[in-house]
Amino acid sequence: MDKKDEIQIGRRSFLKVTAGASVAFGLGRPENSFAATDRQLSTLIDLSLCDGCVDRKVPACVGACKEINKDKIPPITEPIPEPWPRKTIEDWSKKREVFNRLTPYNFIYVHKAETGGDGQKKTIFVPRRCMHCDNPACATICPFSANHKNQNGAVVIDQNLCFGGAKCRDVCPWEIPQRQSGVGIYLKILPGFMGNGVMYKCDLCIERLAANKLPGCVESCPREALLIGTRKAIEKIAESRAGRMNGFIYGKTQNGGTSTLYVSPVSFEEINRSMTKKPGQPDMKMDVQRRMAGTDPLAKAVLAAPVLGIIAAGVAGAWNRFSQRKEKAGKEGQDHG
Ligand code: SF4
Ligand code: SF4
Ligand code: SF4
Repeated sequence: MDKKDEIQIGRRSFLKVTAGASVAFGLGRPENSFAATDRQLSTLIDLSLCDGCVDRKVPACVGACKEINKDKIPPITEPIPEPWPRKTIEDWSKKREVFNRLTPYNFIYVHKAETGGDGQKKTIFVPRRCMHCDNPACATICPFSANHKNQNGAVVIDQNLCFGGAKCRDVCPWEIPQRQSGVGIYLKILPGFMGNGVMYKCDLCIERLAANKLPGCVESCPREALLIGTRKAIEKIAESRAGRMNGFIYGKTQNGGTSTLYVSPVSFEEINRSMTKKPGQPDMKMDVQRRMAGTDPLAKAVLAAPVLGIIAAGVAGAWNRFSQRKEKAGKEGQDHG
C-alpha cells in the first residue's frame, strides 16, 4: 500500500467502504442511527502530518467539531442549582470560545509539545479527544446506563439520560468527558441532591457516520492527518507508517486498547514529558491501566449501577407522567373556565 492509496481511506474510499456497508450492514437505517456499521471503525491521527494549523486562528479540526456540535447543549437554567454536599458547579456557557482544552463546548483541541529531551528539538502537535476505548470504564461505571460502546467502536453518552455525576471522568485515564451544570434531566428530578448537569465528549460524529459522512475533524483536516476506516485497515496503515518513519504507535495497548491510534516520529514517552498537564489537557503516558480493576473502590460503585439506573428511570418516568397529568389538568381547567 503506498502513501497515496492510504490517504484515500480518509476521503473517497471511506465513503466507498461505508456505502458498501450500508447494504451489507444496514448503514444509515433511520431506526438504527447509532449503529453506523457493524464493522468496527478506528481512526488514525498521524502526528508527522499535523502542523497544528498554526496559520489559522482555530485549527480546522477544532473549528469543524465546534460547528457540528454548536447546538448540542441546550440553554442553561439559571441560577444553576448548587449541588449537595459538594458545591462544585461547572459552567462553561460563558466560555464557549475556549478551544485550547477540552470543555463541554469543545470536544477536540490540539496540544503543542516542544520535544527535544533527546537533543533533537521538534514541535509536535497532538489533536486530543476521546480515544473510544475498546472496553471503556466510562461506560461500565455509568450508574444510569447513559454511556455505551457502539458496534462501530464509538463510545457515546446519551445526553437525555446523563445526570452529570462525572463518574465517567473519574475512571477515564485521560479525564476526557467534561461537565456542563444547569442542563439535563437532573433539573426535573431532585436538583441539588441528585446529579449536576450533563457530561459531554466526542461521539465520533456518530450521526454523520450514520448518514455516510466523515467525522468533521477527519473531513476538515487540510493535511489529511486524520483517517478513519475499518479497524484492520487502520491498524495496517499505522504499522506501515510507523515502520516507514521509524516511529511509534499510541493507543493500541493503552487502557486495554482503543479505537484511536496515533503514529508519531517522536516517541510518546518524549511527547508526554514535553506536555504541560492541566485539567482538560490530558497527558499521553504509556502505562495506562484500565481503572476499576480488582478492589478499586470505583469498581464497587459498578455493583450499584443497575439499581441506580432502575431507580432513576422509575423516578424520571413518574416525573414525566406527573408533568403530563398536570398539563392535561391545566388544559381541562382552561376549557371549563
Ligand atoms: S489535525 Fe489537521 S486540522 Fe487538526 S490541527 Fe492538525 S493539521 Fe490542522
Ligand atoms: S478515552 Fe475516556 S471517555 Fe473516551 S472511551 Fe476511553 S475511558 Fe471513555
Ligand atoms: S469525531 Fe466529530 S465529535 Fe469527535 S472530535 Fe471529530 S468532529 Fe468532534
